[in-house]
Amino acid sequence: MKKKHVDQSLRDHLKETFAVYIKSKKMRQTPERFAILDKTLEQKVHFDIDELYKNIEADYHVSRSTVYNTVELLCECNILRKHYLNETQAVYELADDRHLHLICLKCGAVKEVHDEKVGEYLSTLKFRGFHPTSSTTNIYGICSACSRKRKKT
Ligand SMILES: [Zn+2]
Ligand SMILES: [Zn+2]
Repeated sequence: MKKKHVDQSLRDHLKETFAVYIKSKKMRQTPERFAILDKTLEQKVHFDIDELYKNIEADYHVSRSTVYNTVELLCECNILRKHYLNETQAVYELADDRHLHLICLKCGAVKEVHDEKVGEYLSTLKFRGFHPTSSTTNIYGICSACSRKRKKT
């Protein structure tokens, strides 16, 4: 599975952002919260709570609700972002507006395409009285593997 490369300086920056946010909410800076942040940076590009919890559980004694609440906090301070790539399942990823999702209607595969122009364009849009905090663009269709299969049969 494809993972996102997160270098040390980005890692430090995200930790700092999270620490400041937790402080501003007058919450305690527990080691568990930072361990969970660290783990989210090691997941594949799109991950769900169950996968994350499984990976954390092996190393730490934290409850599923602690993991869930921490992920929600990480979304609130814009480190992570929540998506619904299909109708039922929420997935999380590092917040970054400059990418599109190509979603296959046959097999559900999600491919990310990065394009600086997308972010630039979205930042020019104005919505009266509505302040966007993040955005994502999903393009639905048939992936190359599925269309190859289709030709064969
Ligand atoms: Zn497909
Ligand atoms: Zn994505």
